[in-house]
Amino acid sequence: MVTVRFNSGMLLILVDSSLSLFSMLLKGCTSLLKDTHMGFSQTRQDITAAVKEQSDIVRIIGEHVELKKSGVRYLGLCPFHGEKTPSFSVHGSEQFFYCFGCSESGDVFSFLMKYHNYDFPTALKYLADRLNIQLPEKRVSPEERQRESKQRLLYEVAGKAADIYREFLLSGSSREAARAYLQRRGISAEAQKRFHIGYAPAKESGGWNFLGGRLTAEESALAVEIGLVVKKEGGGTYDRFRDRILFPIYDMQGRVCGFGGRIVGEGQPKYMNSPESDIYNKSKNLLGLYQQREEIRQKRKAVVVEGNFDLLALADRGCSNVVAPLGTALTSQQIRLMARYAEEATLLFDGDEAGVKAAMRAAPLFLAEEVSARVALLPSGHDPDTYVREKGLEALQALLDDASELSEFVLERLMEEHGLSLEGKSRIASELKPLAAAASSPLQRSLIISHFAEKLKIEPARLEAAVSFQETTNEPAKRHTERQKKPDASVLPITPAQKRLVEFMVMQPCFFAELERGNLRQVLQGGVGEIIFLQVRKMVEQGSEIQPEDIFASLPEGPERALVEKILLEASRIEKHKGSEAAQTELQELLQWLEMQAKRTLSTSLMVEIEQAQKENDFAKLENLLRQKQTLEREMRGD
Ligand SMILES: [Zn+2]
Repeated sequence: MVTVRFNSGMLLILVDSSLSLFSMLLKGCTSLLKDTHMGFSQTRQDITAAVKEQSDIVRIIGEHVELKKSGVRYLGLCPFHGEKTPSFSVHGSEQFFYCFGCSESGDVFSFLMKYHNYDFPTALKYLADRLNIQLPEKRVSPEERQRESKQRLLYEVAGKAADIYREFLLSGSSREAARAYLQRRGISAEAQKRFHIGYAPAKESGGWNFLGGRLTAEESALAVEIGLVVKKEGGGTYDRFRDRILFPIYDMQGRVCGFGGRIVGEGQPKYMNSPESDIYNKSKNLLGLYQQREEIRQKRKAVVVEGNFDLLALADRGCSNVVAPLGTALTSQQIRLMARYAEEATLLFDGDEAGVKAAMRAAPLFLAEEVSARVALLPSGHDPDTYVREKGLEALQALLDDASELSEFVLERLMEEHGLSLEGKSRIASELKPLAAAASSPLQRSLIISHFAEKLKIEPARLEAAVSFQETTNEPAKRHTERQKKPDASVLPITPAQKRLVEFMVMQPCFFAELERGNLRQVLQGGVGEIIFLQVRKMVEQGSEIQPEDIFASLPEGPERALVEKILLEASRIEKHKGSEAAQTELQELLQWLEMQAKRTLSTSLMVEIEQAQKENDFAKLENLLRQKQTLEREMRGD
């Protein structure tokens, strides 16, 4: 029996489950349902639409971000980039959000996906649960179900192993060497706890069958599959990890999926990871990302180091947005995973040849994923661990702040290596191929080429020819915004004075800075004008020459856009030249008006304070306030 219920039993469909309602829904077989006279039916898309329609985007986002009403919009501090004045707008009637600072936008689903890193089904379920809308059960094949339950068991065994190793480090009988090692490397108990660091004893201390001996036969068989326990040829098993400090590797759901191990005594290899398995793929996970995801999300930046102990040492000393690949070079998947939390990565590598090479290799990957990256190289003889221990967090931070942009770094290295002779340049050009090839669009490619051409002082066409290659169809999934284009017919909450200011701002964006200094935003606060203000400010900050039409085109559907449209239509009749004398005069008038407005606001707030001081019998304060008020009034009268 399958039940689909909308909002407290508004609709109830009961179907024999053998009909596989869900698979029909997936295929959009609404006609089939109609034909079988089951009446009203809903496709999954309908349900998605219903969930979206019934979810109050202002309320949902308001639970994560403090929002203040601003005209027909709500404004708050953007959770997706750091900012001090609000430019994150939530549009209730159109059901979308938009940030004037970082351009992040979308609907209630994309907000949850981005904020919590949910996938779409999770976001849908989250909202549906709140609304009491029951989603159709996903139909899974018996094989699929079996695979899922098997995976669950594998995760359980991995988690149990992590606990056993952890417990042994804390209270095992022969753990002294491991504890001494951790102490020598200066890793605090707190960091060990946070990363759930454990220890597998040496073979002399029962390490051959330490883990295996603590698992049931069933668990042992599963442990073989994830490589924690190895089958012996003549039967029986032995532990993979012996005399190693173990770093559990977590997936993004917080499940242990593998281990990295550092030998404590003598022996090779120094570092060993658990092999890939049904639950562990080394190129798709990053050590530390799960534990540090919140810090990374807040800073919008991640620091990438190469080693487990580098990660631990940095995190322990307060550089909390650090991750490490798992014994391999960075992969595209890892960069993509990181990009869900960070806009920029800084590669903190050793200053030796290997470090430089690793950075050079990573450059095309970052470019292809459109994630910005920088490189900080450590002085020779240092790794991140020794550096932060010797020089401290501040020195490390300075090094990170000073990091060079990755593609610049690559070019500089190539110029150092090959020189700028004609031959050198042609070598550089051929080594730039992977970078050009990684471009995710023709536009990006031509930008890269003209950028490097300028640096190398050669014609872009020549560089293009040198790096030309068979065009790959490397089309990345473009971010798309899901905006509902629903025109808002509500009355514009704007006063004539505000309208005149907005009109001037839109028609004469070259004076934006003056208007902003004149406190324009304050006057527009809470009206559609503020949204237009934010948009113009963003465009001005981007540094392009702005045309009024660009402002119109860039605004989301809604009253702001309607207002700008109206302004443009009216303006075509009263053409004023940009920056002309007439415009200058008008600017002065408006600035004076703004100044007067600011004084009025100040006067009102002084009055409130005066009343307060009177109530409190604070005469000293009262006298001071009254003097201020007098001065202000004189100014306002123009005395
Ligand atoms: Zn933002």
